[in-house]
Amino acid sequence: MAVAILLGALAFNVVMGRNASYRSKSPPVPSPLTAPSPAQPLPPSRNITLQPPKPTLGLAIILDDFGWGAEGTAAALKLPPEVTVAVLPTGPTASRDANAAIASGHEVLLHLPLEPVSKDKMGSEKGREDFITTDMSDQEIEERIQMYLKSVPGAIGLNNHMGSKATTDPRLVQVIVKAAERLGIIVVDSRTSPKSILYRYALQAGARAGQNELFIDNVKRLDQVKARLREASGIARKKGKGVIVIGHVHPVTVQAIKEFLPELERDGLRLVSLSRLISGKKVG
Ligand SMILES: [Zn+2]
Repeated sequence: MAVAILLGALAFNVVMGRNASYRSKSPPVPSPLTAPSPAQPLPPSRNITLQPPKPTLGLAIILDDFGWGAEGTAAALKLPPEVTVAVLPTGPTASRDANAAIASGHEVLLHLPLEPVSKDKMGSEKGREDFITTDMSDQEIEERIQMYLKSVPGAIGLNNHMGSKATTDPRLVQVIVKAAERLGIIVVDSRTSPKSILYRYALQAGARAGQNELFIDNVKRLDQVKARLREASGIARKKGKGVIVIGHVHPVTVQAIKEFLPELERDGLRLVSLSRLISGKKVG
């Protein structure tokens, strides 16, 4: 044992001595062209970390309502990976769509069905059971979110499907925000109601959050969707910050995005991923 320690110490000294003698005998000769002198500024990489992050001027596009095998699913997944895919958890193709989206580089959201003001929008009696409603207990809401996340594997966040009633309910919103924080996922307020408090509550709780600026395909016509995308890039330029917009998995929307992207670049903006846009934002 003592011998081993002694040998170890000797080896250590030998190595150190070699290094020391290397340093003293052959100091590295700096090239006069590249060596920084003390008077020169720090290399650019160090300067960047000292400055606040630049606002990400671009569009983050979320496409909602995957999970039901909608026409346009395959084409949508061929869009650039910056486009985010929001998957309804109770649809028959939910897990398949989430996995396919992730495999092609997209970020995925759990598209959380939340109670709208108009109960008719929730569909059939069976369809209504999918929605998180204001009469559920805190525990029921949490369990539902956890269950739904299992159907949308790899989701980095959630955004609301419908929810014009639920997103104005302080208790329900708080439960969602707390659950999202605990699970470490992003919250995106789809803003299906001007009275929604989801985004505000999420920011107040210190969660990573964003909100929809506008829906791009309320009218599903190529020229109309492109006009909304143009409007969104105008908002981004005017505000000097990134903007989140929401469309749906639909062939017209997919085609409009494809045709609009070169225009976006010509305007000096770019398509950005949701997580990148949100992490570049000031939260709090
Ligand atoms: Zn939806």
